[in-house]
Amino acid sequence: MTTPPGAQDRMHTLWRVATDRSLDQHQKIDAMLKAASIALDMDVALVGETDPEYALRYVYDVSSVFQLPWHIALDQTVCHQVMQTQQSLFLDNMGADLAYRQHPLFTQFKFAVYAGAPLWVGDTLYGSLSFLRRKPRQRPYTPEDKTFMELLAAWFGQMLLQIKQQTELRALALTDVLTGLPNRRAAETRLAEEYGRRQRDGTPFAIAICDLDRFKLVNDHYGHEIGDLVLQQAANTLHGHMREGDWLARWGGEEFLIYLHQVDHDQAFSVVDRLRLVYQQYAVNTPHGVLKLTLSAGVSVTQGSTADLTRILAEADSALYEAKNAGRDRIVMHQPAQRNMLWKAGELQSALQTARVMPAYQVMVDLTNGQAVADEALARLVGKDPPGSRFH
Ligand code: GH3
Ligand code: MG
Ligand code: MG
Repeated sequence: MTTPPGAQDRMHTLWRVATDRSLDQHQKIDAMLKAASIALDMDVALVGETDPEYALRYVYDVSSVFQLPWHIALDQTVCHQVMQTQQSLFLDNMGADLAYRQHPLFTQFKFAVYAGAPLWVGDTLYGSLSFLRRKPRQRPYTPEDKTFMELLAAWFGQMLLQIKQQTELRALALTDVLTGLPNRRAAETRLAEEYGRRQRDGTPFAIAICDLDRFKLVNDHYGHEIGDLVLQQAANTLHGHMREGDWLARWGGEEFLIYLHQVDHDQAFSVVDRLRLVYQQYAVNTPHGVLKLTLSAGVSVTQGSTADLTRILAEADSALYEAKNAGRDRIVMHQPAQRNMLWKAGELQSALQTARVMPAYQVMVDLTNGQAVADEALARLVGKDPPGSRFH
């Protein structure tokens, strides 16, 4: 057992750990626990959260009696009293203490000394900072030791608060405020991870980019607030019907990205088409009545593909464009070999639906004598942008 250093030395040691820039916040807490345990002449140091049961969060224990994760009912712990009284507690010899000599910490785990203080994180009583020692001490703890431990508890509380705030900020920066889904930035990071995994172990995946059909009309007719409501409900509906291992993100205005884990071409199609049908059946409740919308999606599958992530996204995007061109409310799979044919078929279908296939008539002339010999009827596919400007 290391001899406890003098008050000034122990503050100095802890200060060095607390200001060590090479450690992240979690490592700092671990290092501080070790330094605090030595400074207080203890064997074990624990930070536990008590909501509602006691859950160990950080531990210093060379004998490894305490290991993460560790959960126990709060009323079975000694720190229960610390939490109830919100006061620090020193038990110099549990074996000689009527209230504690039957406690498992003494009888089972053979600890003789306990010291603990409440941990406040901001305004919240978070849990406790506890220290344990196997052998009773020759000299009981002094009021200075008590003050020192309370100071430590305040220090740990401050570090836990910083971690909490950083975690909340990080989550906020990666979450779409309107839908609560991961935002584009979060999705890009996660996709890069999924792509890395695919490169390592070959697990195929697919990406679908879904876009609500004619969404602008909702905004135009009912206002932006209803538009927002539609987006929230679309996110909930899609999210509620995802397979395990798949995930959804808000990719842009009314675009959602779906990551499909371990799928081939046909599976990807059936999963996304099922989502399309679910959404097609879904009625959006608005104060102005019930709205029904559809969605289109473009899907790109990594199986058998050598494309990188940027390319896979671009493929899904251009497949989505085809789905829109082909009349919306449909899924288009990116298929490099049949790409052109698919586009033609889709374009023809869309042209038929939007009355852009026009009859045209012309006379056939015999060029040797200039005589009209027949009338010919043609079906012309009229282009869209600008209207009537292209003929196929
Ligand atoms: P298409 O079928 O071709 O996708 O037609 P569309 O009307 O859905 O597509 P377009 O891109 O023309 O319109 C998308 C609209 O989404 C335009 C934009 O004002 C709206 N939008 C984007 N983000 C939000 C948002 O957060 N809330 C609301 N209410 N509208 C949004
Ligand atoms: Mg749209
Ligand atoms: Mg869009």
